[in-house]
Order: sequence, then structure tokens, then C-alpha cells
Amino acid sequence: MSLNIHNISPSEVVRGEGSWTRSLESITKLCKRPLILGRSSSTRKLRSSFEKDLLLNGIDAISFELDHDCCELDIQNASIFSKNNNCDGIIAAGGGKVLDAGKLIADLLGINCITVPLSASTCAGWTALSNIYSPDGKFIKDITLKKCPNLLIFDHSIVRTAPSKTLASGIADAVAKWYESSLTSSTSQDGFVQQAVQMARVLRDQLFLNGFQAFKDPLSNSWETVAEGCALTAGIIGGLGGVRCRTAAAHPIHNGLTQLAYKNKPLHGELVGFGLLVQLHLEEKNSNSQLPKQAKTQLIDFLSKLNLPTSIESICLRNASSNELQKACKFACKDHSDIHQLPFSIKEQDLLEAIQSFQSLPTSSDISFK
Ligand SMILES: [Zn+2]
Repeated sequence: MSLNIHNISPSEVVRGEGSWTRSLESITKLCKRPLILGRSSSTRKLRSSFEKDLLLNGIDAISFELDHDCCELDIQNASIFSKNNNCDGIIAAGGGKVLDAGKLIADLLGINCITVPLSASTCAGWTALSNIYSPDGKFIKDITLKKCPNLLIFDHSIVRTAPSKTLASGIADAVAKWYESSLTSSTSQDGFVQQAVQMARVLRDQLFLNGFQAFKDPLSNSWETVAEGCALTAGIIGGLGGVRCRTAAAHPIHNGLTQLAYKNKPLHGELVGFGLLVQLHLEEKNSNSQLPKQAKTQLIDFLSKLNLPTSIESICLRNASSNELQKACKFACKDHSDIHQLPFSIKEQDLLEAIQSFQSLPTSSDISFK
């Protein structure tokens, strides 16, 4: 076997109720002057309470707010701010894009990284990977980091208060692990990759069983299984499978769709979930099996129950003309895109037709008789 180097997991993971308070001692061992990184005004109060808790434990933290998604300009500004203030660690507290930015800044500066996911919308708190976007949210590339965070704090009492749509988005992103990895990696001879793919299947089954209950009731047992599945287990699968446990079409379609303008910008998992439906449609067209069609029907039903988009109209595009959608398809089908990991060849036009098949059916009020 050729040489493999893995970044499977954060050095320490603290999960459950009260994880933040329980982690203060670990934080004192990792840094004395951390930068608390965040973005949204809705989490500002929480981040300033973190700052006070840290101060009571002899840690003199300083705050910085990002202006955009994880973009080069913000990374540069936060890195300069961090250096000017002699920061020796990053505490990234927010959604996936804040976590990605925090991990990348710590990686560039060679300092410790602590991730505190404030929702279960992605597994970004876990992985040694950051996605880079333009200031207006267009996906540019992903960057592999030297290591996973030193400490991941998954405090249930905090994550539970996040809007339910973030959990739904996390569920769509996490179920995609199975549909994508089983297509690209199920024939791998590497035991780690095989195990990662099987773990993705078990996770999908758990999310199918518990997802709706978790979405409806954040105080249920289902919520714990589902939130941790999305934010933690999905990260383990990425860490174990590594670069050879590739995505297929759902993520490249997400990357393409981020190039377009939206009335309300969808969350990462909302576009990945839609991309997954398009992937299953492509599989259906390119195989004689009934399985992709059945999986697509099952998934449309599941995503709909979680209020996730299942049609072009419901992803809130400003302009869903063929020309606009063609732009997304061109990006998704670039050379070296993971979309070419599909077991059949795919061209921009095939993808465009597949996306356009998800027009919602006209309602009776849309139909006018002349
Ligand atoms: Zn994702």
C-alpha cells in the first residue's frame, strides 16, 4: 500500500450539555490570548459571554467579526489583526463558514485552533479542510489544512438554540455523504475508505429515521443523534475516508449554483440537497436500474418534510433562465471537478437538462386558459 497520512479527528472533542464550561480548562492549556472569531450579529451576545468566561479563567481574549463568507480578504484582515494583537490561538464560534475561516487563519499563522459550532449545519468544526468563497459567496476552491482543530466544543445547550433550518441543512449535507461516496469510492480496495462509506450509509439510515423528529423537537433524543451525526460523525467519515473518499455530483452542483445570484442566499446544505436530487436524476438517466429513481422519490419526500428545497423555484434564484443556469453547469463541469468521478461521462448540457427537470409543477392559479 502507498503511504497515507490522515487527519482523522480533532485532538479533543467535548460534546453534550455544558461542554463550553467544561472546556475552559482545556482552552487555558492551548492559548492565553485567543482571537474569538464570529460573524453574525445574532451570535454576538453569545461570543461576548465567551469572552467574559475566558477572562474569569485568566484568558485575555479579543474579538474579531468577519464581514463576508470565508473569503481571502477577511482571512487576510483577521490574520493581520491577530498578529498585531499577539494572538496565540483562534476560537472560531459560528456556522460552517466562520469555522472554515478560523481553521484557515490558525493554519496560516501556525497557532492553535478551537472550533465551537453554533449550529449543526455542517461538519466544518471537525475537518482539516476549508472552503474559500468570494466576498459575495461564490465558491472558489477548498484548501486542505495541516491538521484538524486542537479542540472541538459541541455544546448541546448552545446548538439547540440555532434556527431549525440550520439543522435541516446539516441533514441534507450529511445524507449526501452516502450518495456521493458510494458512487465514487465503493470499489476502493482501501479498508479505511470502505469503512468510511459504510459509516456514511449507517448515518444516512439514522438521519432518515430520526431527522424529522429532531427537526420538530430539539429536546428529543432524536435531536442529539441527528445534530451530532451532522456536525461530528460526518466529519469522522471525511477524516477516515480522506481525499480518496470523493464527492460525486451533489457538491460540484452546489459549487456551481453558488456562482448565481439569490433573493435569499440558501445555506450550504440546502444547495447540496438540491444537488443530490439532480445527481440521482443523472444516475437514473444513465442506468437501467430502478434504484436511483426510487432513491430520488424517497429523498424528495424526506427533504420536503424538512422544508428543504426540491425545485428550481424553491432555491430562490433571482434569475433561473437557461443562460444563468448554464453558468452554474459550466462551473460544476470544469476540468478536475469531482463531477467527473461519476461512473458515466457528463457534459454541461446533460447537467442543465437535469437541473431543469426540477421545475415545480404549475399550480392551477398559474394556468390561464385563453
Ligand atoms: Zn458539504
